[in-house]
Amino acid sequence: MAEFLIEPRIRGFISLTSHPAGCAKNIDLQIERIRSENLPMGQKNGLQNVLVIGSSTGYGLGAALAACFGYGANVLGVCFERKPEGEKPGSAGWYNSARASETAAQDNLIFQTINGDAFSDDIKNQTIESIKKEYGKIDLVIYSLAAPRRNDAQGNVWNSVLKPIDQRYEGKSFDLRKESITDISIEPATADEILGTQKVMGGEDWQEWIELLAEQNLLADGARTVAFSYIGPEITQALYRNGTIGEAKKHLENTAIVLDKVLSQTSNNITGTVGGAWISVNKAVVTQASSAIPVVGLYMSILFRLLNERNENESTCDQGIRLLRDHLAPHSEPRLDEAGRIRLDDFEMADDVQHTIAEIWPMISNNNFADLADWPYFKKEFANLFGFEISGVDYSLPVEVDIPLNS
Ligand code: NAD
Repeated sequence: MAEFLIEPRIRGFISLTSHPAGCAKNIDLQIERIRSENLPMGQKNGLQNVLVIGSSTGYGLGAALAACFGYGANVLGVCFERKPEGEKPGSAGWYNSARASETAAQDNLIFQTINGDAFSDDIKNQTIESIKKEYGKIDLVIYSLAAPRRNDAQGNVWNSVLKPIDQRYEGKSFDLRKESITDISIEPATADEILGTQKVMGGEDWQEWIELLAEQNLLADGARTVAFSYIGPEITQALYRNGTIGEAKKHLENTAIVLDKVLSQTSNNITGTVGGAWISVNKAVVTQASSAIPVVGLYMSILFRLLNERNENESTCDQGIRLLRDHLAPHSEPRLDEAGRIRLDDFEMADDVQHTIAEIWPMISNNNFADLADWPYFKKEFANLFGFEISGVDYSLPVEVDIPLNS
């Protein structure tokens, strides 16, 4: 037993602590939400085994929970989280995964996690061995890594940066430490930085995973795979879509086309649905990865105010449900845009929402920020990621931090 009182220690877009009971409660709420959908449980329906790479937080977690607790699929996740050590709690993703595993075991479901660097041969091989021993062929691979760096198999270290290309970016942003709007200026990326970001956040590693699974004969007939992208509004284009990360996303999107050619050759034995590889363009949500992106935090604070007013502000788990139910689950056929992508960002990208944001953006300042944006909501969502400010959790009590990853 190792019970301690845990206080939030949030520094800008970093949290130095996470709360095990808060993270567990967060997972319970998401599972409850998924169950309320009454998705077709039962493993004979063609979604028996799901591999999720980047399974412990954000979009990977939302989809992993939907697959396990909505469809009864056996989920094997891969993530890179800090384990608890002594008085130091583990990272939020550790406790999220632990709670998902514990609840799955109680319900005779399977949610297991391999913790380590998904870019490495070592973790890839461990995952392959685990699939061979415990799972069998994989029906769906969800690729949801968001990482700052990648050590590739050749010993190169690549770093991902958030920079514009060709031109300096000058504009508004939100300083999470000072909690105020500031002007920022970001120099354009070098060619090495553009390549580095593509190596980390592009499709190379996704392709390596799929090719390895295929080589090992571990993809079921009709196997499907998906990776996540983002497009977003005009005001973030210079930094996001036309910047280093956007270039990486274009590489990811092109990788889907390459993988699709191979996977679309077979179909699922039970449902008859054809395999394939897709990109799902998701909405902006607060995650560890997105809160690190300059400008996007300010945009999200405005967006969430508008979407909450319309009751259209979906969570990662809502998007995970939609992704499976409407596109990738057995008997579902992905509905695609003109570029062949699944779109889950429709509420965010609705013309009237974007039009209002475009009107607000030039006039937003520290004087009217409280009225035009919902910063308290953003801040709470951020605290929630680490298990803080969750209602029903008594933060005055010591809490067990030494929790095993898998039950
Ligand atoms: P996140 O930070 O919540 O999750 C990242 C996941 O990757 C975690 O499970 C983490 O443990 C894992 N991870 C990171 N490095 C790893 C490594 N080396 N080995 C193994 N696991 C590792 O991020 P997110 O925002 O959910 O992003 C996931 C994907 O969704 C990204 O491709 C992102 O661009 C995309 N996306 C995000 C948003 C958004 O607003 N957050 C919107 C659209 C698309």
